[in-house]
Amino acid sequence: MSQPLPETADFLKQAERNVGLEGSLPLARLERLSATLCDTTGELHARLNFGSKAGFSHLQGTVEADLKLVCQRCMCAMEHRVSGRFKFGLVLNEEERQGLPTDLEAYLIEGDEQSIIDLLEDELLLCLPIAVMHENECSEFLKKHNEQKQAEKEASSPFAVLKKMKVD
Ligand SMILES: [Zn+2]
Repeated sequence: MSQPLPETADFLKQAERNVGLEGSLPLARLERLSATLCDTTGELHARLNFGSKAGFSHLQGTVEADLKLVCQRCMCAMEHRVSGRFKFGLVLNEEERQGLPTDLEAYLIEGDEQSIIDLLEDELLLCLPIAVMHENECSEFLKKHNEQKQAEKEASSPFAVLKKMKVD
């Protein structure tokens, strides 16, 4: 069992203190992501490391989750693991953003507390594949589905009715 992550934090203060956080959050708390899921049970797991280096405050970490999505081919539920890495430079304004090293993505600090939920949700949304599909079991499912359809079609065709009448 992992610890629940705080939903918000003062990122700059965490960076000053070189705070490391690790834990989980329920997927149901991520509203935008939830809209793309067929089942919002489960949680994400994330690591966040705050720190500062060469005059910059930064936040880097990883996030991963098993998402329950709908397969675009057979329209059945499927589980899909996504994971992302992020490396942000925490900036207060455009000038600071310009001065960031190129390996850091800018994260604009607004207000006293920043949302860890929003940050992780954005990362997970970026990880979502454009079209999700089963790899193999999907074709198995489709085969069975088609066979069943075919059987139903034959059973309801006029010839099938005739055949039945003859037998009777
Ligand atoms: Zn499928």
